Amino acid sequence: MRLLLVEDDAMIGEQLLELLRADGYAVDWVRDGEMADAALQSQTYDLVLLDLGLPKRDGMQVLQGLRARKQTMPVLIATARDALQQRVAGLDAGADDYVLKPFELDELLARIRALLRRAAGRAEPVYEHMGVTIHPATREVTAHGQPVTLSAREWAVLEPLIARPGMVLSRQQLEEKLYGWKDEISSNAVEVYIHGLRKKLGAELIQNVRGVGYRVPKE
Ligand code: CA
Repeated sequence: MRLLLVEDDAMIGEQLLELLRADGYAVDWVRDGEMADAALQSQTYDLVLLDLGLPKRDGMQVLQGLRARKQTMPVLIATARDALQQRVAGLDAGADDYVLKPFELDELLARIRALLRRAAGRAEPVYEHMGVTIHPATREVTAHGQPVTLSAREWAVLEPLIARPGMVLSRQQLEEKLYGWKDEISSNAVEVYIHGLRKKLGAELIQNVRGVGYRVPKE
């Protein structure tokens, strides 16, 4: 999954970047509202983590702008503990949830998972599909009852596919889930991770749709 992190504080931004990447997300980090607008108009993101107090253009304007453009991805706003009015205004302007600063990191990650789950049209926290069971919160995976260990990158490829069985994602769309702007991409990376996933989880779980991309078939 690819996230846009909008945060002007360097220390907080670096901490969040490290946390989110360690959790397997591809993350682009911008530090002001104009950069956020530019990023949102040039890339597709699965979720935006948005600070409200920003240079150049405040977070509320960024939020109003993206909703006015009919961008529907979940937006999680970050506000100070005492800023009740700001949180209310943010939710009413189209944010989906908020987190309080300073962050409780485990709670932040759980709220992100919950929003991504809802955005994929699911309420249940566990994926079960074709004998494979996946717990996004703990990263526990079993295939036909046997525990399986996935790398962070294999996870990043599998999750968007298994979240929406039947939907085809192109190689480029999967690359966008894997890499931020500054990462180097090897041309066959997606194929390599798909190969690894098929070996671990069974060849039938991920189908190649010739010339289009990959999908997890509907059961
Ligand atoms: Ca700020």
